[in-house]
Amino acid sequence: MRKSIIVNDMSQCLVCGNPNVEVHHAIHGTANRKIADKYDLILPLCDKHHRGSQGPHMNGVIDLKYIQMAQKAFEDKVGDREEFRKLFGKSWL
Ligand SMILES: [Zn+2]
Ligand SMILES: [Zn+2]
Repeated sequence: MRKSIIVNDMSQCLVCGNPNVEVHHAIHGTANRKIADKYDLILPLCDKHHRGSQGPHMNGVIDLKYIQMAQKAFEDKVGDREEFRKLFGKSWL
């Protein structure tokens, strides 16, 4: 199972606990997805909470919430804001 630096438990959906999870790259888009992958900035989400209307790919508010969670985790465990900005091109905090 993949590990994440954002959450401890990758075995169930972050929102509802459904054990059928997909891996969501908290910061996505072609280049960013690879960097998110490298730093384990991923989240476990069920199909509904991933691709549905309450998921980050359909809902910009939820998308931003997960991006900010990822940036906080990065700044907590990996590097500072300057490093984050260098990697992803911007800061969301
Ligand atoms: Zn769910
Ligand atoms: Zn996703």
